[in-house]
Amino acid sequence: MASKISVLGSTGSIGTQTLDVARMHGLEITALTANSNINLLEKQAREFHPKMVAVLDLGAAAQLKIALRDTDIEVFCGEEGICNAAVEPECDTVVNAIVGVAGLVPTLSAIKAGKNIALANKETLVAGGALVMKSVNSYGVKLYPVDSEHSAIFQCLQGCPKNSLKKIILTASGGAFFGKTKDELENVTVKEALSHPNWEMGAKITIDSATMMNKGLEVIEASWLFNCKDEDIDVIIHRESIIHSMIQLKDNAVIAQLGVPDMRIPIQYALTYPNRLASPTKELDLSEIGCMNFQKPDYETFRCLSICRKALRLGGLYPTVANAANEAAVEMFLREQIRFLDIAEIVGNAVDTFKDNTENFTLEDILNTDKNTRLKVKDKYGHNNY
Ligand code: NDP
Ligand code: MG
Repeated sequence: MASKISVLGSTGSIGTQTLDVARMHGLEITALTANSNINLLEKQAREFHPKMVAVLDLGAAAQLKIALRDTDIEVFCGEEGICNAAVEPECDTVVNAIVGVAGLVPTLSAIKAGKNIALANKETLVAGGALVMKSVNSYGVKLYPVDSEHSAIFQCLQGCPKNSLKKIILTASGGAFFGKTKDELENVTVKEALSHPNWEMGAKITIDSATMMNKGLEVIEASWLFNCKDEDIDVIIHRESIIHSMIQLKDNAVIAQLGVPDMRIPIQYALTYPNRLASPTKELDLSEIGCMNFQKPDYETFRCLSICRKALRLGGLYPTVANAANEAAVEMFLREQIRFLDIAEIVGNAVDTFKDNTENFTLEDILNTDKNTRLKVKDKYGHNNY
């Protein structure tokens, strides 16, 4: 069980819920980080007294340094500062709740420093899964999934003999636009895309849920965490988000993990594994839920899911490309520079036109591929304005 944790991205949706769990179970906080939200980061620092905090934005970090000068908390800045937080000497577990591929280098730094990882930041595994899993093995650290589906699978697998897994069944809420046709999606707004039926999350993952890119990223994430191929991972729409995912074993027995949709359950499990401690979350009352529904995903309308599966099958740097194009496209959609359906178009084009796939790629290759893909997307669509 974790006892001293550093929370990267502590000001976000997963970050703040991680601090709820830490507060409840008296976990010591060794470091906290943010991109630029120093008001919340200062509050968190004053409550949890970490050894250090780090802010990506240099100007914001300078302001926070002044604000915290009456304390002995060290303030770091930039990407290097975030990595300092990831390797804080006393910490045993790093919770990575950063959004996007920006979480990759800090994750690798933490692993190299021997820290266990509680990973919410799925883009890290999508863009750099091969490197991350290799480092986890060579440094002998543990990687605990925080993403609710992957935590569910991890929980279902407890007690199953090795090699008994036949298939993973990832559940998907379907996001804000489940059941809509392509025509109906033509003019949907940012506000509509940001209203998720069951979960309150950061903006990027909420858009990813609306496009189903999130489920595509999760298929790739699952392939790394549980050593599975594309064909071993099914996706099923389950609007109620009560079953968080399932496994099918070789004898066709299916095991599911259920609970109210509250991320504090998987966050806590990642931090307290293998223990089961009391939780502030609501109990599940199935009579209140009444019935649960399941449907096949619409792979044609929600193309991002098929594109991610294709990227996974192609392997190498293709998932890095799909992720980078999506990050750039979501940013532009949130700024109303492109339309909703353009996101899938952009991600699909990026994957279809990518050529430099290499088998033995390095971290530098991943970062360059990520950067070049974003530049291409921004060059082509960045001056649009709808
Ligand atoms: P948020 O946008 O709410 O929070 C992101 C956090 O990362 C904030 O602390 C933010 O700081 C910080 N941050 C943003 N950009 C950078 C950067 N370039 N470098 C360093 N720090 C940065 O996201 P969520 O909490 O929703 O999601 C975090 C991760 O967890 C994502 O990968 C997401 O897919 C995954 N996840 C989230 C779930 C959820 O319920 N929210 C569920 C499952 C997975 P600041 O506040 O200053 O901007
Ligand atoms: Mg999820």
